[in-house]
Amino acid sequence: MTPSTPRIVLCPTCGKRVKWSARNEFRPFCSERCKLIDLGAWAAEEHRIPGSEIDDDLLSGELDDER
Ligand SMILES: [Zn+2]
Repeated sequence: MTPSTPRIVLCPTCGKRVKWSARNEFRPFCSERCKLIDLGAWAAEEHRIPGSEIDDDLLSGELDDER
């Protein structure tokens, strides 16, 4: 048997830690707001020249260890 450890993912929009659970309908985002922001960013990407910038700071955000 495997222990039921909640899987933690980082919200692609704000970098917050999010529990990956079936109850979180916005996963991998932390909230509906972040999901909409990301969708908006996607739409904006289409009007930009691709490959001009790489965002690598999504995973380097601070990880607050809240329980
Ligand atoms: Zn978020």
